[in-house]
Amino acid sequence: MPELPEVETVKRGLEKNIISKVIADFTCDTRKMINHPLPFYKKTLKGSKVIKIGRRAKMIIIGLSGDWNLLAHLKMTGQLVYRGQNRSVVGGHPIKEGFEQDPNRFTHAIFTFSDKTRLYFNDVRKFGWLRLYRGAELAKQLGHGLGPEPLDHHFTMEVFRQELKKRPNNKIKQFLMDPKNVVGIGNIYSDEICFFARVRPDRKVKTLTDQEIALLLKGIKNILNEAIKYEGTSISDYVNAMGEAGAYTAKLRVYQRYGKKCYRCGGNVQKIKMGGRTSSFCPRCQT
Ligand SMILES: [Zn+2]
Repeated sequence: MPELPEVETVKRGLEKNIISKVIADFTCDTRKMINHPLPFYKKTLKGSKVIKIGRRAKMIIIGLSGDWNLLAHLKMTGQLVYRGQNRSVVGGHPIKEGFEQDPNRFTHAIFTFSDKTRLYFNDVRKFGWLRLYRGAELAKQLGHGLGPEPLDHHFTMEVFRQELKKRPNNKIKQFLMDPKNVVGIGNIYSDEICFFARVRPDRKVKTLTDQEIALLLKGIKNILNEAIKYEGTSISDYVNAMGEAGAYTAKLRVYQRYGKKCYRCGGNVQKIKMGGRTSSFCPRCQT
């Protein structure tokens, strides 16, 4: 599932490629993926210009002319692919099958721009969605029960501490993965953040010392920023996409390394099940 760095990578890819483009046509074959009937989408989108691209949590916000905004969520298995004249950009969940061409059998929505380039929304399991909102409605939707953006400068030690205080009995990994507390962190980066801070993922929030809280915050900022720099574990370049994994995969310190030696202390990385997810940690240097 794409986490914040992967969605941010998609956002930046779109920013580079579709700003100022005018939508000439839109199609979608899955009614549940859009929040209005298709004719409404067609009518609204046709002739709309892409003004800006934003992100909130794991949602991409495509700002359009005429005060319309298109919200896109890739959920578990969604992928956005832009096919330009000379280049293609893909981001989100790596879909191996049918990867060589778009549209393919996982393509459910297609934006065609006036220059004939296209943006494809592919999704294996069709949990991903698009929502069309006016400006005011968008603000309301974005405010719904979401915690702070971890990379925002407003996400300070004080804010982090307040969030932690609300859930003293959460396990740390569980806390990090809950978007009500802080958005955009999933299974991969929560493991990496706990490793960075040298805390066990299954420890309770209330047992954290001030020093550990400071390290966790530093871990959140450093790891997410570094992952964005390496374009996450998403695929940003079709030509290099054969290996499936994005560049950050090579930087992972603990995620899914159970059974192997810890990079930091040489101990044995172990796994535990938490809330149905497998977590990797080093019991020697994470306490
Ligand atoms: Zn270790």
